[in-house]
Amino acid sequence: MKPRAKSLILKPGKEKSLLRRHPWVFSGAIARVEGDPGIGETVRVIGSDGAFLALAAFSPQSQIRGRAWSWDAEEDIDPAFFRRRLQAALDYRTTMRIESDAVRLVHGESDGLPGLVVDRYGDHLVAQFSSAGVDAWREAIADALVELTGVPNIYERSDADVRGLEGLPERTGVLRGKAPPVPLAIHEHAIQIEVDIPGGHKTGFYLDQRDNRRRVYEAAQGMADADMLNCFCYTGAFSLAMLKGGAKSVLSIDSSGPALALARANVVRNGLDPSRAEWMEADVFKALRELRDQGKAYDLIVLDPPKFAPTPATVERATRAYKDINLLGLKMLKPGGLLFTYSCSGGVSPELFTKIVAGAASDAGVQARIEGRLAAGADHPVRLSFPEGEYLKGLVLRKI
Ligand code: SAH
Repeated sequence: MKPRAKSLILKPGKEKSLLRRHPWVFSGAIARVEGDPGIGETVRVIGSDGAFLALAAFSPQSQIRGRAWSWDAEEDIDPAFFRRRLQAALDYRTTMRIESDAVRLVHGESDGLPGLVVDRYGDHLVAQFSSAGVDAWREAIADALVELTGVPNIYERSDADVRGLEGLPERTGVLRGKAPPVPLAIHEHAIQIEVDIPGGHKTGFYLDQRDNRRRVYEAAQGMADADMLNCFCYTGAFSLAMLKGGAKSVLSIDSSGPALALARANVVRNGLDPSRAEWMEADVFKALRELRDQGKAYDLIVLDPPKFAPTPATVERATRAYKDINLLGLKMLKPGGLLFTYSCSGGVSPELFTKIVAGAASDAGVQARIEGRLAAGADHPVRLSFPEGEYLKGLVLRKI
């Protein structure tokens, strides 16, 4: 007897999001699984009426049970498919003017490769496989990356929490070529930054804030004798922008000791005056209260916290946390001063974020003007059919 085709058959009425080209199939939308597909295997997604909807990768343990590769029933999901998708992602990056040798080359769903992130740091690529589908094609993807980019070295950082949800073990280490030096220095605009690829957050660095750091640098250039505050500073990239722009003093706060050590080294590497930079290893929520109680005030403040709302269930708590730090930040801003405030929680929309910050200003008794709405750089694209890709949003506010 011929084995049945490997398929996910959807419940009635659950076809809509796939028809709109959203790539995720949630477990609750599936009536039955046919043909006993293995983890990461390609399946046909079929509507309740029997019509073909998409080809997808099967994730048996995840709530996101399928991630669509293609809406074309005839397309083969094979190494050539991955070469095509990777080439398209690389071609798109060639249309951008990115003043850095560190660039996001592949941004998951938004580049048609659900669960795959690839960042380039000079002569080293860093790859993160966080879905069963891309994990199953890891070798073919690695081969294609070396061939298409000409970069021989790939380091794997498949240690994001979401791997656990997919039933995949953590995996880090050299995937092709040589291990990256630690630290590895990248150039971003006129600034050099040391990055720890194996030990740092994400793939080592927050590439998504590149344009926003530039903006802080430009704002700092226009200010005289300015005292600045950088909260959640990580390895000090925003602090370097402030110092390079001419800040009189920069106080930077983070809870990570290793990140602060790299931040200090970055000041020296850029030939900036270390006496203008103060580093505080502390919890920002506590530190802001202490600074407020000491009567401190700043001309420019950056608030770039971690993802307070990693899941939809945590949005409410995250809302309170965003409001708290923004309220304190707005209070400590000097009149005419600038606040750069961000959220990288996918579950907090730009509209909700603006509302939270407006609530914080109102409670703080502060009037402010929105002078800019910020997002991730163009190498972190957003597809209209995948709004979750618009995770980073920010505001530039001037206290009036
Ligand atoms: N602005 C940085 C990226 C910030 S990422 C850049 O441009 O590179 C968020 C940072 O917040 C991380 O470095 C993490 O160590 C730090 N962090 C998380 N929770 C914290 C807390 N409660 N207090 C202080 N730092 C915290």
